[in-house]
Amino acid sequence: MLCRPWNLYSHNAKLGLSKILSTSRKVYPRTEGSAVRGVRPHIRITLASFSHNVRRKAETNKSTRNTRPLANLLLGDLNKTSSHSEAPDVADAPTSKLLQTVQEYQQANPQYLTLVRVGDFYEAYYEQADLLGQLLGLMVVDKTVKGHTFRFTGFGVRQLERHLETLVERQGQCVAVLEQYQDPISKQYDRKLDRIFTPGTLVGEQFLDSRRSNFLLSLSFSPDQSVGMAWIDLATGEFQMASSQTDELASELSRLRPREVVISEEIVMDDNTWLGTQLAREPSATFLREPSQMDELIKKLDNFSPLEKEAGIGLLNYVIKTQGGRELDLKLPVLRDDPRRLKVDQAVLQCLEVSNRTRGSLLKSLNQTLTKAGSRLLASRLASPSTHILTITNRLTLIEAFRSDSVLCANLREDLKGAGDAQRSIQKLSLRHAIPLDLLDIMSALRCAQVLKSKLSASTDPALTVQGSRLPIPSILANTIGRAYDDGSTGDMATRGSIRPDYNKHLCDLHALKHRLEKERDELELDLRNSLCAKSLKLVSSPGYGHIIELNSRDEATFSAAARSLSHSPVLFQALKGKRRYYLGIWSDLGCKMEQVQEDLIEEERGVFDDICKQVLSERDSILTCSRTIAELDVATTIAVLSHRLGLVRPTIEASPILDIRGARHLGVELALQGKRRQFTPNDCLLDASTTRLSVITGPNMGGKSTYLRQIALIVIMAQAGIYVPAESARVGIVDQLFSRVGSADNLTNEQSTFMVEMQEMATILRKSSHRSMVIVDEIGRGTSTHEGEAIAFSILKYLHDQLKCRTLFATHYHSVALFASDQHRPSFYLPGIVNYHTRVHRLEDGSFTFLHGLLPGVSTHSCALLVAQLAGIPPMVIQQAEEFLHNPITQAPTQNSVYPVTNQAIEKLMSVDVNTLTPVDALLLVQQLQSLVKRSPSKSSNL
Ligand code: ADP
Ligand code: MG
Repeated sequence: MLCRPWNLYSHNAKLGLSKILSTSRKVYPRTEGSAVRGVRPHIRITLASFSHNVRRKAETNKSTRNTRPLANLLLGDLNKTSSHSEAPDVADAPTSKLLQTVQEYQQANPQYLTLVRVGDFYEAYYEQADLLGQLLGLMVVDKTVKGHTFRFTGFGVRQLERHLETLVERQGQCVAVLEQYQDPISKQYDRKLDRIFTPGTLVGEQFLDSRRSNFLLSLSFSPDQSVGMAWIDLATGEFQMASSQTDELASELSRLRPREVVISEEIVMDDNTWLGTQLAREPSATFLREPSQMDELIKKLDNFSPLEKEAGIGLLNYVIKTQGGRELDLKLPVLRDDPRRLKVDQAVLQCLEVSNRTRGSLLKSLNQTLTKAGSRLLASRLASPSTHILTITNRLTLIEAFRSDSVLCANLREDLKGAGDAQRSIQKLSLRHAIPLDLLDIMSALRCAQVLKSKLSASTDPALTVQGSRLPIPSILANTIGRAYDDGSTGDMATRGSIRPDYNKHLCDLHALKHRLEKERDELELDLRNSLCAKSLKLVSSPGYGHIIELNSRDEATFSAAARSLSHSPVLFQALKGKRRYYLGIWSDLGCKMEQVQEDLIEEERGVFDDICKQVLSERDSILTCSRTIAELDVATTIAVLSHRLGLVRPTIEASPILDIRGARHLGVELALQGKRRQFTPNDCLLDASTTRLSVITGPNMGGKSTYLRQIALIVIMAQAGIYVPAESARVGIVDQLFSRVGSADNLTNEQSTFMVEMQEMATILRKSSHRSMVIVDEIGRGTSTHEGEAIAFSILKYLHDQLKCRTLFATHYHSVALFASDQHRPSFYLPGIVNYHTRVHRLEDGSFTFLHGLLPGVSTHSCALLVAQLAGIPPMVIQQAEEFLHNPITQAPTQNSVYPVTNQAIEKLMSVDVNTLTPVDALLLVQQLQSLVKRSPSKSSNL
């Protein structure tokens, strides 16, 4: 049934909003927030390392409505006095059924921006019209219907996808779309919820970035700090569950990077900014209720812990709700998150730029995949490397096989270019959002798999033939789709599909009939033009008037005279300035027949489409296997090609806790330097948990310490992800957890200083590391007094060395820490498992200098801070003052609290000071320094 514009609203909108623009504006009174259902006992859950509090809601009756900063910002003051979507009060209630429906929906669902289909438009009313107008830059007007005035805006149906991209994808809004339905008997129109578009429940929208996963995550909390997690990518059907702890949540979030998180409304978070994503809160009754559909899926959830199941049910309920309650054919495999994965904490993923898509990130450097599924697989492997040696070596072996057969590799990559995203398309089929293009994607994937299978089977390398045998090809299906659709024709297909006329006999007959009627129509038009003496006569089919005759008014006289001779003469129903419009029985009959044939054709094509979709869904498992194998082959061939281009080698993966990397490089920094025609200096790393397990790196600022730490951590991640690494050789003993304390992320909004954040992160590392872990610590102990900082740095180093015994890279400017730790003559400080390395600055005679980034054994006692400050543009006067401070014997000599060793040199320096040149305060300081020396080193005080 075709929908036609039908009422005043759509008509007005078509006339142009400017015509009904008015200046008056109404602010509707505030409605109360939804009542809070506190059904559980009060539970307080603390996210230990973040000091954010999460608790079950019990006594409080604060509104838990989702707030969106952008919407608040745009609404400005208006939002302070009115909620996101408020409707008029009862006295001002609209009389129209449409407005009543909108008002009721908005009151019950204030968290959504409601769009209502009216004819060929989507419209928003009341306060939401203002919000929509601001977000999309649309004109908003006051409109009056039967004395009831309200705010109003809208846009044409064809612009829905474009505007959803702005609202949902870019601005994180949740948009409820009420579609219009016509009752076949009463012919009355009604509005019902069709779908709620939220960032985490997007499925087949063209704007969705298919190269990355789009997870919706559901969380369920228990009083003992346990967390049940369930997440789904509706676009690919990936559905997984896991358990975690509240203090690990931030890391889990940065690994999964969900677009939206759904929790029960009764959970109260004092601060949810740490989520860093959209938060949806569902009433506990609907979050926890077992959905009546998807029995099979719910049964699968019984295999998981009660907390995981709770999260899973909450997730499914939210999915069902946002899909407008339509019957979903979801048979998703529910998997337990792989426990054999390398746990990488939030700081590591962020600081090492593993998976974000900014320039220089690891993923950016490696992502030369040719398929969208391949791109997603590579991203997920880097975000969740494995600890399972066999899994890793299998991946590496496949890459090696492609490296040895570069002809086959190049060949397959050509074929991969044509493979569609079958995983996403099949999911769209399951969720009933598919369009014919999705069938074409599945067909191209199946045909690609067919070609890959035959080429891989012809290989002599078992690693490649195994891949070939893993490709089950439902080739009949590809042929059926190929028979139905023209591969090249994508015009109409996106909307309704254009199946080949020769697909079946019925379609063939309908097309023949359609052509015959079109011919009849052309003949009739010509005949009428001649017989009725009206050259401008046209046969028109219009949605508003049906089938009519239209002619220029100048032909009216001759037309009317000639028309009198007809047995059924035309009936004039509209006389416009330059046009006349008539009904004529013969054209109305023919037009209706044409309309009927067109509807029959659409019906038949829809039937064929549905039938093919059913056949495809019955082969879902084999299609998904094909898609997965295509993604794996894409990743393996990509790395094989890159290994030549970027100089990557196969790492050896082993169980012993060793890390022996020769000639390690940092891909991102190396590529950036190449752009400036500079070379990267490779470095080695040798750590063994049972012997020399800690490297302490000292050296000047800008010497490359941080880069070194990161490049080694990245190599571990790449190796355990089953990817070749940027080095000359690499032996990587499996690491179970990778921790980093890098950078200084203030969390000022949470009243946490740099030092506090640093200590919190370090506390987590010290609590969680095992002797199989790897820790990188970059300049711990800043942001406090030097001596206390040194003390903390040393004691952390000692704890890592003595207690945790894990492989550690420790960069510091506190060279005293490195000196003490390696000084065998001071047994209370000496740490035998430590090796010192340093970087240097090379000064040239002309005063210029270069940083030497190659690591050398030993400790550097120069930070060269003044050089770097000079380089950064600090005024010369400041630098000069700093030089004086640095070389002044008083400031240079050991102070009362210093841990510097008392040397003869220090004493000589103090003794050489001419007391007459000192101010009284400096003189006092000098006396104190000397007293301190006598106290700390009586043996040397004889020199004084
Ligand atoms: P530090 O931590 O010692 O202050 P960084 O690791 O931040 O130094 O390095 C500073 C800059 O030096 C980097 O941005 C990079 O351009 C360059 N650099 C670092 N390591 C190397 C290297 N091994 N080879 C060449 N250039 C390097
Ligand atoms: Mg640094």
